[in-house]
Order: sequence, then C-alpha cells, then structure tokens
Amino acid sequence: MASTSHHLQTQLIHAGQPQPRHAGAVVLPIYQSATFEHQGQGSYDQVRYIRLNNTPNHLALHAVLAAISGAEAALVAASGMAAITTTLLSFLGTGDHLLAQDCLYGGTLTFLNEEAAALGIEVDFIKGNDPASWARCLRPTTRLIYVETMTNPLLEVPELEAVVGFARRRNLLSVIDNTFASPANFRPLALGFDLELHSATKYLNGHSDIVAGCVMGRRAHLAQITRRLNHLGGTLDPHACFLLHRGLKTLALRMRQHDENALALARFLEGRPEVERVNYPGLESHPQHQRAKRLFSGCGGVLSFELQGGTAAADRLIAALELPISAPSLGGVETLITRPATTSHAGLTPQQRAALGISDRLVRVAVGIEAAQDLCADFAQALDQF
Ligand SMILES: *Cc1c(COP(=O)(O)O)cnc(C)c1O
Repeated sequence: MASTSHHLQTQLIHAGQPQPRHAGAVVLPIYQSATFEHQGQGSYDQVRYIRLNNTPNHLALHAVLAAISGAEAALVAASGMAAITTTLLSFLGTGDHLLAQDCLYGGTLTFLNEEAAALGIEVDFIKGNDPASWARCLRPTTRLIYVETMTNPLLEVPELEAVVGFARRRNLLSVIDNTFASPANFRPLALGFDLELHSATKYLNGHSDIVAGCVMGRRAHLAQITRRLNHLGGTLDPHACFLLHRGLKTLALRMRQHDENALALARFLEGRPEVERVNYPGLESHPQHQRAKRLFSGCGGVLSFELQGGTAAADRLIAALELPISAPSLGGVETLITRPATTSHAGLTPQQRAALGISDRLVRVAVGIEAAQDLCADFAQALDQF
C-alpha cells in the first residue's frame, strides 16, 4: 500500500490496491455487478450500487486520486462536466452568487450562463490576472470563486496564490479546474484551494478512449458532493473505472513527455519567421512564465500560436501536417490540432472571442507523446510549403 510519504510515481502504481488482493489478482479486476449483497449498511449512500460510485473499482480510484492530489477524499464522475456541475450544484442554490474566471472551458461557461442562471444562481466573471478588481464584484450572497489552472486556448495562468488568499479572507469556497496541469504538474490543494476538479478524459486517463471526471478535497466537502451525485446520477461505469485506473498508472511518465514535447515545439515555432506569436507558459516570452515556473513542475501539452496570413494559412497548415490529427480535446498520447474559432469556441460570437483575445486564425495544438523531433520536422515540412 502506498503511504503519503511516497512520490507521485509510486502512489500512481500502489495507492488504492486492495489488501489482500482479490483472488491474488495483481491488477484489480472489473466488478461488472450493478448491485452487491447487503452487508447491513444503515444509509442509502452506503448501499453498494454502481450509481452510488462505491463498487471496488470506484473505491480503488478514489484512493489513488486522493493520494496523488494530497486530498482527504476523492470522487469519480461520468465526465468532467458531471464533476463540475455536480460540485457547483452542491454548494450553490437559488440566490447564491459566484465569481468565475472570464475565460472558461466552453461547457462550464455555458452551464453557468444557461443552466445555473435558470436556477437563480448568479455569476460575475472576473479577470484572473486583475485581483484588485475582484472585491468590486462581491455581494453578500457570494459563496464561491472558480478558476482554471491555465486558460484554453491562450494558456494564461491566473493569479492562483491571490485566489486562495482572497477566498480565505472573504470566506469563499475556492474551486479550481486543474485539467490542463494534472496533479503531476500542479497540486492546487497544497497551495490552499478547497476543491480540485478534472476532466479525467484528458491527461488522467491519457488515451482518448473514455470520458470521465473527478473531484478532490476535504472529506466533509466530498460527502456533500457524493450525496448530490448519487441523486443527479452522473456515475462512472466499472469498465471506464478500470480504463481510467490503467491510464493513471503512467500519468507521471506521460506528463514528462507532454511537457518536454510541448516546450520543444513551442521553441521551434517561436523561431520560425511564419509564426507571429506562440502562447505557452514554459516559454520565457509568456507573460506569466515566472508564476508558472514557481508553481508548476511542467506546463503540460497544450500550446497555441498565430501564423502570418490569416485563417486560410492556418487551415492550410493543419491540412499539410501529417502527424497531428485535426480533432478537439487534449491529453491523449496522440497530437491533436484545432482552430478554436471553429471548434471549442465556435459557440461564442466573434465579439466575445475578440474580447477574450482569441483570433480566428489562432491554432491550438494538444501535443502528444510522439518523438519531439518528428513533430518539429512535421511542422517544418508543412511551414516550408508556404
Ligand atoms: C474537457 C474539459 C472539460 C470537460 O470535460 P468532459 O470530460 O468532456 O466532460 C472541463 N474542463 C476542461 C479544462 C476541459 O479541458
């Protein structure tokens, strides 16, 4: 069994393994059973049933996720959005108010603007790098502050230390979507955040073959979220639990390669005359490079850049590349490429995109774990065609 003194790499392999092993199995088998024999449990939440996220496969995952994030407790959910929406609905109700960063994952933004608004939950959007402006948005009903570790697709790093301090002084719950860093690169709970959320679809699973989510934090908070999830029904099925657990074992190895590859590609692109601007916090030219260096052990696999020549040039580049696949999402072993204005941010108006600094010609790359030399060579041959 892994102890809290072990490194992340060791916890990923050993935390959550049942003692004794079930029938001696080195790998925890899939418990494909909807319901389990009653063992005298007193409460509804303790009855063993897949929807209650408490089968052996769920419990093992909860232990690994809590260990690697330094949390008292963890919970898996059917998707990143299930984890995010269930968490928000566990602490916010009609008449409550929250502060949320202005550049959020599209699904989260739409949830706040449409579903949460319909329930009478009010939101003010704040600039992650302007802490002086946050207090002006406070109301007597403000309960929570919500940010992301790095924004998509510009990779801005908000003033994360200031978020923690502000939340403590104002008695707000601080919640962070740490998908873009993963616990291998950044541990928000150690910095003082109350709750850490992930789309486990991305780096945690790492193989682009399931959709899953999770939340980590203090035991009392997790009990509240678990109860809400048990009612809302966003469960992760045991087979997806098994795949997520398998993917997690190589998280540290994969992240090291994502970090190295993205930095190599960012440096390569920055050196090309056809490229005007590269956004990657690992580059010295990035406005929050010092903060990223201080807080993160790596900056992950996502970068974005602008080419000279507008959207036609961007589309030509994407078509000329041989390795990157033109597809949304991130965090898998294969490199993916998109133009956010036509994919992740297509739901915004051109004015909204412009206000966030997302131009139509911006290209986003989710760098995989191929050889960095091969990726740079592929971008070189594509740019050479210009
Ligand atoms: C993908 C993503 C989500 C949503 O996760 P799903 O697993 O697709 O529901 C939330 N936040 C971030 C930062 C993401 O990248």
